Order: sequence, then structure tokens, then C-alpha cells
Amino acid sequence: MEKIKVGVLGATGAVGQRFVQMLQNHPWFEITALCASDRNAGKRYYDACRWNLRGDMPESVRDVILQECEPGPDCKIVFSALPSEIAGEVEEDFAAAGYIVCSNARNHRYDPDVPLLIPEVNPEHIQLIDVQRRNRGWQGYITTNPNCSTTHLVSALHPLHARFGITKVFVVTMQAVSGAGYPGVSSMDILDNVVPYISGEEEKMEQKEPQKLLGSFDGEGIRYADFVVSAHCNRVPTRNGHLEAISVEFAERPTQEAIIETWRDYRPLAQQLNLPSAPQPAIIYDDRPDRPQPRLDRLAGSVPGMATVVGRLRPDPLFHFKFMALGHNTIRGAAGGSLLNAELLVAQGYVG
Ligand code: NAP
Repeated sequence: MEKIKVGVLGATGAVGQRFVQMLQNHPWFEITALCASDRNAGKRYYDACRWNLRGDMPESVRDVILQECEPGPDCKIVFSALPSEIAGEVEEDFAAAGYIVCSNARNHRYDPDVPLLIPEVNPEHIQLIDVQRRNRGWQGYITTNPNCSTTHLVSALHPLHARFGITKVFVVTMQAVSGAGYPGVSSMDILDNVVPYISGEEEKMEQKEPQKLLGSFDGEGIRYADFVVSAHCNRVPTRNGHLEAISVEFAERPTQEAIIETWRDYRPLAQQLNLPSAPQPAIIYDDRPDRPQPRLDRLAGSVPGMATVVGRLRPDPLFHFKFMALGHNTIRGAAGGSLLNAELLVAQGYVG
């Protein structure tokens, strides 16, 4: 198949670089445009971008001339890694101009006609695209992926909710510094320390994203799932990989074996379709007593950084069960999440 032309908005940033890295040698997509702020538009990517990922900047993008973040680039899909201060309007401009926007930014996640997607969890929500196009009169459209900590929380919970019905969730996050972008939290603030506050994070996890993701599409919109979440979000001095301590209550208490079996048998649509970036399996259950750990397990699985690793499942004296979940924040929690969304859109016929 002829490769689909894609662009990256915010290509010089932490998430933008991940997009560039993950799109190298992609079987379906090829980068034809890289965009950044007007401070860097007109420069070579190599000169404007301080490459922060392991390994060298790919040869194929070094000489690409950065464009401004406005409609015009020669591509069909744009991946948005823009700061929320500007993402909202820029993404709308692209969608109105006929581009397919796969966004990491929070601006449109809660719009009633914009899908908030995790391909394993709620692939049927892509039908909101038809509602969005009708409402807004756009040729293009916007899809979003959730916040990095919500992504792994909901990925671990989805098969349990489908089988046992979740009523309450309590989660404490230990979030890596790369989640704050580059240069992010200053070393003087984070070394020898834990910062028990991440602006806006608890609100996203408690009130908005899990309930929309696990909600149902009724033909016109999403009916939010009915369970409560209490979240404590902390920034810790790990570089990549968010670790989460999760307690859950169900409509009826399942057995521990049934939970493990549910995770192990989980093979949702993205895996059945064999999407190129879909990890096989989506959830890795690690039964070693001291795992998962960020440094050792954040790249576990068939597509490094795309799986959610769970472990330490045990009874909880307040709720029914508690466990740990770990996931890579800039791979599955950001760029990889958007990339898998785009793959789902292609597989489901939403990329003309
Ligand atoms: P970042 O490192 O600060 O990068 C921001 C990018 O946006 C850069 O390419 C920058 O280009 C560009 N930019 C800044 N101002 C601009 C403007 N006025 N016009 C056009 N382009 C502009 O940020 P990040 O950490 O990659 O985050 C990007 C988005 O992803 C944010 O919305 C963030 O909330 C979300 N996100 C991040 C993570 C994570 O783990 N980091 C996870 C999930 C979601 P210049 O280099 O030219 O300034």
C-alpha cells in the first residue's frame, strides 16, 4: 500500500520527538512535514531540535525544514504535540481545512463530539467522528488520546470493568519527570524529593477521562460510565514510566484468580486487527513480588513502551483488590497512543 503522508505539530518538543522516532520505518505512514513555533520555522530540524531520545536523530529528518503550525503542509494526518495554550485553536484550523488531527493535548478531550480514544478500550467511540463532522461542517476531524497517567489506569481497568463492573477506584501515581516536557521540573526541585502536586492531573483522572473512556456510545454522544475515582498525583525522580498504586471495588467481589485470568485472556480489537503499534499482549501480568518497576519494565512487551504492565495483585482491606500498574508516559501515554489511534482510524476506514 502507498504510505499515508503525515505531519507532526510541535515536532521539536518531548512528545514531538517521540512521534518522529516512532514514525521511522512505519509500515503505513511517512513523515512529509514537521512543524514548530515561528521561532524555529524555516530552520533545519537538526538545527532547531535538541534531540533528547536515546540514539541519534534519524537521518531522514535532519534536513527537513520546519514549517509553521498552520494548515498548508502536504500531508493527510497531523499528529499534534502542541502545548495546550495553543493546541485548541490550531487543531481546529487543521480539521476545518480537511486534515485528520490526532492530538495529545487536553484541549478537545472533553468536547462531546470528539473521541477520546484508547484503541483497546473504546474503539466504537470513533463513530463520534461522524457526529463531529456533521456538527462542525468539517472535512477533517479531531481525535484525542488521554493523559499519560489515565491511559495506563484505564488500560488496566478496562477488562475488569467489562467483566465485573467497577464502582470505586483509588489511585496514587508516581509520575516520571519526562511527563512535564523538556526541560520540565528543575533538578533542584526533583532530586532527593517527591513533589505531591501536578497541576490539573487529579481533576483529569477523577472527573473526566476514565468515565468518558469507559462510557458507551449511544449514536449521538458518550454516556459516561458511573464510577468514582479518587486520585493522588505525585512527581517522582524517575525519568520515564508512570507507576500507579490502584485499589478497586467492584459491583460484586471477583476472585483473585478471575482477575488474573481476565488480564491474561484480554485480546481486544486493536490486537485482533494486528495494528502495527499494538502490543501483543496489551496487558502484561507480572507475578514477581517486586514488579513492575519503572527502570526495568517500562519497555516490556512486543512493542517497547506500548503495553501496560500490572502486578502485585492482592486483597485490599478497604476496597476489594489492589495492584500496581506501570506504563511508559511519552510512548503509550503520549505519541504512541496517538499513533495507535491513527492506525485504528486507517483500519476502520476513517482515513479516506
Ligand atoms: P514541549 O516539550 O514543551 O514541546 C512543545 C512543542 O510545541 C515544541 O515543538 C514547540 O516548538 C511547539 N510550540 C510551542 N509554542 C508554540 C507556538 N506558539 N506555536 C507553534 N508551536 C509551538 O511539550 P511536550 O511535553 O512535548 O508536550 C506536548 C503536548 O503533549 C502538551 O499538550 C502536553 O500536555 C501533552 N502531553 C505530554 C506528555 C508527556 O509525557 N510529556 C504526555 C501526554 C501529553 P519550538 O521548539 O519551536 O518552541
